[in-house]
Amino acid sequence: MTKFSYAEHLADFKTTARWLARRGWSEAAGGNMSIRLEALAKLHEDDHIELPIEVPYIAGQVILLTGSGTRAREIGVDAEPHIGLYKIADDGRHYGWIAGNQNPSMELPAHFAIHNALEQYRPEDKAILHTHPASLIALCHIPGFDNSKTISDKILSLQSEARLILPEGTGFVEHELPGSLELGLKSAEAVAKHHLVLWQYHGLLATGETLAGAFDKLEVFEKSARVYWQLRAAGIDPAGIDEGEIKNTLTAFGRLARYPTGI
Ligand SMILES: [Zn+2]
Repeated sequence: MTKFSYAEHLADFKTTARWLARRGWSEAAGGNMSIRLEALAKLHEDDHIELPIEVPYIAGQVILLTGSGTRAREIGVDAEPHIGLYKIADDGRHYGWIAGNQNPSMELPAHFAIHNALEQYRPEDKAILHTHPASLIALCHIPGFDNSKTISDKILSLQSEARLILPEGTGFVEHELPGSLELGLKSAEAVAKHHLVLWQYHGLLATGETLAGAFDKLEVFEKSARVYWQLRAAGIDPAGIDEGEIKNTLTAFGRLARYPTGI
């Protein structure tokens, strides 16, 4: 196995995976993670693999991606054997393996499509995290919880700081085949506006400057969802914090412009 040395990023994978496993959010080999980097690694044309999509915004960049079938609980112990380094060719239509794990997650085209969108809309977000938290998946089974606005307003109004950390709310993508390019392309559209995207009946995708930063946002959303389920278990369907209060809080912290209106 060709070695690579991105110690700081491997540590980000390891720590985040450990927490994903500890929280029970990435059962079995569920979920995957990637980080996008500028790099000088060379890719020979002989090693080109054709992509089913074009990713011009990340042409020439490299991506660290979890391998197929890798488990968060094992990445959390030793990240290196489970992470592969891939380079996008300069034409944005091919990629190649450079080092590390050589068997990428089946979500590779989806991760590349989402990184391509992030580079375009929010280039500071270099990390993508996908996982399966039960309290978030359960939300998708509530009648009417099938769009970004309903879920964001209902869940992020239950705790004073939740909407402050996620003013845009969560994005939402209707159920698609796991690992499909369609799921990746719809998520790429959603991350233009959202740091989080709830995949119906499947799990959550989070973006951040680091994996730890993406995990922060996931953690905030999941906490609010747990508050929701605790209230529902007690027989209460919460009205949540008044919208005027939420807007006052966002105004006080200069984040009101990020709150969606008129949807
Ligand atoms: Zn998944």
